[in-house]
Amino acid sequence: MRVGVLALQGAFMEHIEALQRLKAKALPVYLPKELEGLDGLIIPGGESTTISRLMVDFQLMQPVRDLAQAGFPILGTCAGMILLAREVSDFRLETLGLMNIKVKRNAFGRQVDSFETEIEMPALGEQPFHAVFIRAPIIEKADSKVEVLAKLSNGAAVAAKQGKVVASAFHPELTDDLRFHRYFLDVVSSN
Ligand code: GLN
Repeated sequence: MRVGVLALQGAFMEHIEALQRLKAKALPVYLPKELEGLDGLIIPGGESTTISRLMVDFQLMQPVRDLAQAGFPILGTCAGMILLAREVSDFRLETLGLMNIKVKRNAFGRQVDSFETEIEMPALGEQPFHAVFIRAPIIEKADSKVEVLAKLSNGAAVAAKQGKVVASAFHPELTDDLRFHRYFLDVVSSN
């Protein structure tokens, strides 16, 4: 399995390492031609404004949209989730618009802008998942095509799936628990 990790900015190395630990071939992606021959793509956390601008500059937006429309699996984490959303409040830059979700950036405010908590995520099994939130977004709205995979105890949706596109508000690549990446690789291999 060959999985690309968008490497323009942000926490891409940690995703590459998680994929390698799961014996997948992980390839950094900077240019549209590097999307060729991939079975899936991860868009990492980082700064969504920067990633959006760089994706436009590197002419990656439309090629990634075209792949997704043909059923190509994509995982977006944190800023990556923002890039996947169809709607983002107070965000004037381009997104891929591949998930029918409305996302709020920096949803936890300054006081608690980063925290870690155990979340229930039945798709990963019974054991709670240790989720790391760093200036994280939340999913404010999702339509019926979207399956919410995890919520915080206050009800905020923080992980979701639509077709073969998966998103999390937290950073699964920053823990040793590989279940989230394995879940995405299962989506990839079911292609
Ligand atoms: N707050 C960042 C943004 O809006 C996302 C933070 C992250 O990816 N850890 O892009």
